[in-house]
Amino acid sequence: MLIKSNNTQMKKNYKLIDAIYSDNYEDNIDKYGYSAGPQCHCCGIPLKNDNYLLHMTTDGKIIPENVNEEDIEDSQGWFEIGPECQKKYPSEYIYKRK
Ligand SMILES: [Zn+2]
Repeated sequence: MLIKSNNTQMKKNYKLIDAIYSDNYEDNIDKYGYSAGPQCHCCGIPLKNDNYLLHMTTDGKIIPENVNEEDIEDSQGWFEIGPECQKKYPSEYIYKRK
């Protein structure tokens, strides 16, 4: 558990990176539409599971997966990403389900 009194110091202790979008994103959305289930945030392909997740701010930046959700003021929540597309990100930005 994180010690809450450390929160102010913890806050700046990570780096946000830009979300990566595949060149095929628009084509895949045209082809598959917006899925009710898991869908790759990067390339738009519907997924069978949500084994890989990205944590995003409301302005579309990616947060390292080990940063506590309560420490993010502008969290937009977690988004699925496919097994191939997740390789485009540094591993510390990808939450992998066990
Ligand atoms: Zn993808």
